[in-house]
Amino acid sequence: MEDKINKKLENLWQIMLGELELRVSRANFITWFKETSVGGIKDKHLLIFVPNNFTRDWLTNKFEKEILKTFRQNLPNELILGVKYKNQLKNPVPFSFDNAYSNSSSSVNQRQISLLTNTFNIQPKYRFDNFIVGNSNRLAHATSLAAAKTPGALYNPLFVYGGVGLGKTHLIQAIGNEIARNYPDKKVVYVPCEKFTSEFVQSISSGKINEFKNRYRNCDVLLVDDIQFLSHKEGIQEEFFHTFNALHQSSRQIILTSDRVPHAIPAIADRLSSRFGAGMVADIKPPDLEMRNAIIQAKCREKNYLFDSDALELIAQYGSSNIRELEGLLIQIATQCQVDNLEGTVENVKKILKDIPARGDGKKNISGKSILKIVADFFDIDQNEILGQKRTKNLVYPRQLSMYLMRHEINYSFPNIGKELGGKDHSTVMHGCKKIEKESSRNSEIQEHLARIKERLYDL
Ligand code: ADP
Ligand code: MG
Repeated sequence: MEDKINKKLENLWQIMLGELELRVSRANFITWFKETSVGGIKDKHLLIFVPNNFTRDWLTNKFEKEILKTFRQNLPNELILGVKYKNQLKNPVPFSFDNAYSNSSSSVNQRQISLLTNTFNIQPKYRFDNFIVGNSNRLAHATSLAAAKTPGALYNPLFVYGGVGLGKTHLIQAIGNEIARNYPDKKVVYVPCEKFTSEFVQSISSGKINEFKNRYRNCDVLLVDDIQFLSHKEGIQEEFFHTFNALHQSSRQIILTSDRVPHAIPAIADRLSSRFGAGMVADIKPPDLEMRNAIIQAKCREKNYLFDSDALELIAQYGSSNIRELEGLLIQIATQCQVDNLEGTVENVKKILKDIPARGDGKKNISGKSILKIVADFFDIDQNEILGQKRTKNLVYPRQLSMYLMRHEINYSFPNIGKELGGKDHSTVMHGCKKIEKESSRNSEIQEHLARIKERLYDL
C-alpha cells in the first residue's frame, strides 16, 4: 500500500516539475530541484527531502505554494496541511531529469501537461474515466459525454443541476478536459459564476472591460459553474446575456451548472432563464446505496485502500449521499486504520464509526427559526412575509413547506408550529403539512425543493 502511495506522490511530483519547468529558467530549475525529492506524507504534511537548508529556504519562499497546489489538487485536501523538509537525499538520483523533460515521462504527466495548453482553470483530476455512473446521474453523464464528443452540435446549452456534492463540478470539468483532449485547437474556459462576477466588477473599476469581454467571448467552450449566483445581479446578468448570445449564435458550446432548474433561480431575468432551459436540462440526484457502494469501491482503488467488502458496504450504508462527504468519511476511516495499524475489516470499521457522528445528528441544533430563515432565503422572500397573513401563491407555498419541515425535521407539534409561524391556528398548520405530504409524493419539483432546503438546513 505504502509503495503505491509513494508512486502516486512521485507522479505528482513529476507533474509539478513539468508545470514549473514551463515558467522557471532551466538553470534555476536544476539548482533547486536536482537533488530534491518527495519522501511521503508524514503527520498530514508532505515530506520533501532537500540537500541543504539553503534549498529548503528557497523552496519555502519561492515554490511552496505551487508545490502544495499540485498535490492538493490531486489528493484529498485534508491529507496535506503543509510541507515539511528534511535534510537528506532519499536516494542518490531522486528522479531522472530526462524523464521530466522527455517523451518517456509517465502517461499521466504527459496528458496533464498537454491539457494545460488549451484549458483555463480546469483541474486534470476531474475526468470522465473517474466519474462513476449510476441511476442518479445517468442522464447528466450521457448528455455531458455527448456534448464533449461534438461540442456545440447537440445540446447547447447543456444545463446540469443538482444538490451539493453530487458531482456537478466534476462533470462540467470532465467535459472541459475531454474536449481539450479531443480538440487541441479549441479554447476551453471554466469559470465559477462568482469568479465571473468578481472579474466583471474588477474589470469595470480598472477600465479593462474589453479584456474581460474578449476572454469570455473568444472561447470555443464556456463552462460556468453554479450559475444560480447570477441571482439578483442585474448588471452581470446583462453582461452574461451578451456573452451567452455571442457564443451561442456561433454554435460554441456552453455548459452551465446550478443547484436548481433554470426557472427556479430567484431574481433572474426571464430572457436568461428561458435561454438556460432551451437546450438540454439534466439533473443529478443523490446516489442510492448501490451507487454509494460503487463510488466507495472506486475511491479505494484510486487511493489504494484495502478494505473487506462488507466493511465497504457498511461505510456506504453509513455515509452521506453527498459524495464529497462520503469520500471524506472513507479517508477518515482509512487514515484511522493506518494510524492505529488496523486492517480494514468490518469489525474495525464498526469501532471507528462509533466515534464519528452520523449524518443527521445535527438535527438537534435545528430550530423553527432556522427553518424559517432558510426557507425565506431559498425563495428569496422576507421572513415576515411567511409569518404574515397574505395568501398569494408565492407566499403560501413557502409557508406550507416551513410547516412541513418543522413537523418532519424537528417534530414540532401543530400548535407549536402555528406559534412559530406568527400565530396560525393548528388546523391551518395541519392542512399545510398534509398538503405538502400528499403533493410531494408525486411532484418532483417539491421533492427537489425539500432536498435543497434540507441540504442547507444540515449544511451539507
Ligand atoms: P458539486 O459541484 O455538485 O457540489 P463536486 O463535483 O465538487 O460536487 O463533487 C464532490 C466530490 O465528489 C468531488 O471530489 C468529486 O470528484 C466527487 N464525485 C462526485 N460525483 C462523483 C462521481 N459520480 N464519481 C466519482 N466521484 C464523484
Ligand atoms: Mg460545485
